[in-house]
Amino acid sequence: MTDRIKSVGVVGAGQMGAGIAHVAALAGFTVKLHDVADDRIRSGMERIEKSLGRQLASEKISESDKADALARISGTTSTKDLGQLDLVIEAATEDETVKRKAFREICPHLKPEALLATNTSSISITRLAAATDRPERFMGIHFMNPVPVMKLVELVRGIATEEDTFETAKAFVASLDKTITVSEDFPAFIVNRILLPMINEAIYTLYEGVGSVTSIDTAMKLGANHPMGPLQLADFIGLDTCLSIMQVLYDGLADSKYRPCPLLVKYVEAGWLGRKAGRGFYDYRGEEPVPTR
Ligand code: NAD
Repeated sequence: MTDRIKSVGVVGAGQMGAGIAHVAALAGFTVKLHDVADDRIRSGMERIEKSLGRQLASEKISESDKADALARISGTTSTKDLGQLDLVIEAATEDETVKRKAFREICPHLKPEALLATNTSSISITRLAAATDRPERFMGIHFMNPVPVMKLVELVRGIATEEDTFETAKAFVASLDKTITVSEDFPAFIVNRILLPMINEAIYTLYEGVGSVTSIDTAMKLGANHPMGPLQLADFIGLDTCLSIMQVLYDGLADSKYRPCPLLVKYVEAGWLGRKAGRGFYDYRGEEPVPTR
């Protein structure tokens, strides 16, 4: 824990929200996990329990670390319950309209000195800050997926972010045993500015018939030494999130090199959003993932 932050709210109990709640609770913070429906919170809690179980099985944590972390997290569908928290991190769906609506609902309940952050992968921090009542106490804290495993957190200041907010966020991230990198507030920041065009290009490679799902992923794993193929990674991130990030890059930088691949659009329209939907470039509904093309 840090001097300033003892309790944390996480808005959105999806793959990232659950991961952030997991690492914060394990580091000793009291955590409120908020989502729009009870079943979302339930599945977020199940995800946390499973990933704490994996850490226990690999002896990274003890049985009591797991039990204590779980006891520190409670779920809620009411934004009122975020009122007394020191820091609230928004990790709702990557859609500016959704995030703006979430801020409209949350802000009236926050205590004046509370910090508000977003885990957005690509949307302008300055623009999101302007949709809140506290641009000085707002910034980007961008975790990587899966949060309990990945070491990096990108910190992004908006134009109005105060130095004190930045320093408090930095101390908070350090208390989670993560390493920070600082990015300026430009579309998709550093990691996704580089990563997503590569994934989009892999989807074009599939779309143009240069290779199959298996040949593209094998090529990049064994030929470029990537731990995961780009299509497997796209499924892991979520194809809706990948498409949103490409759209933010395309709109924000006005360069045709960021045009989202039509095949990515088609998969999202079909609801084949990757792992979280059971199907994307691979079908995950059986024992082993099977390529869908
Ligand atoms: P997800 O689809 O798994 O989860 C999003 C959750 O937000 C859902 O449970 C949804 O019900 C909830 N939600 C929507 N509107 C809400 C509201 N008004 N209030 C509360 N909850 C609401 O998505 P995710 O992959 O967890 O991504 C969440 C955020 O994290 C996005 O901004 C995304 O860009 C970012 N992010 C994602 C990754 C990744 O690899 N998936 C990595 C880093 C950052």
